[in-house]
Amino acid sequence: MQNRIFTVDFELETVSVNKKTLIIPQKDSDFEACFERMSSILENTNTYPTFFILASTAQKFPHIVKRISEKYDIGTHSYNHTFVSTQSIKDFSKDLKQSIDTIQQITGKKVNKYRSPDFSLSRYEYLEQLIENGIEIDCSLTPIGHFSGQKTTNLQIPHRIHLKNGIIKEFPVTTFNFFGKNIGFTGGGYFRFFPYEVIKQLTKTSPYLMGYIHLGDIDLEKTKVEGLPLSVQFRRMVGIKSAEKKLKKWLSDFDFVSVEQANNQIDWEKQPLL
Ligand SMILES: [Zn+2]
Repeated sequence: MQNRIFTVDFELETVSVNKKTLIIPQKDSDFEACFERMSSILENTNTYPTFFILASTAQKFPHIVKRISEKYDIGTHSYNHTFVSTQSIKDFSKDLKQSIDTIQQITGKKVNKYRSPDFSLSRYEYLEQLIENGIEIDCSLTPIGHFSGQKTTNLQIPHRIHLKNGIIKEFPVTTFNFFGKNIGFTGGGYFRFFPYEVIKQLTKTSPYLMGYIHLGDIDLEKTKVEGLPLSVQFRRMVGIKSAEKKLKKWLSDFDFVSVEQANNQIDWEKQPLL
């Protein structure tokens, strides 16, 4: 099995403050330019990721989402980036369904993969709703517990979870152990923060890896947003200037596959069943 997976979260930039999501307004032309830059990085490094699409962003840029779906594997990243752990099961299911309908309508392709906003899926009841709505693969669980305040898995390999209404396949986010704490390094602010040599070394030594990059991670037009807490501001801006170069190097130095390719290559019967 190819053990390194690359994904892109396709969304207008979002930030979380106290479990509330703010979608940062951006000029359409800046967003489109950022997508084109991401697109050429993928082409130049021959990388075929899975795009997790935020449906409200897809509605603003349907022409881009259509293009993505013609070339790449896709999944849903919810409709509005609402923190899952703050939603009732009913509201979660409604939002999920709306996201799937929107993306399927734009692309004409079936959506069977999901990643929660900010890795905020915190309970198995939500996973049951994924199955209810035709999702077969989830990429939401993490041992970090950074935003949701709740660690949702300790397993660092693809596994299956037995739920009331079926079995879901899970590709968790990769972390490394830093003085007893689980720290991310494969996406978002973590990827921008760590020097490339550290990321390279951790990539080499991780038996399984799930990368997750946002367009906002390489957005050089990003500017300070007034009123945000300092920690959030730091997380938005840290390492932004060198992130694009770092990403190009990472994708050139290592081979990555999409979630769909990994799914096809895994012998699921041999993976743990919880
Ligand atoms: Zn997101």
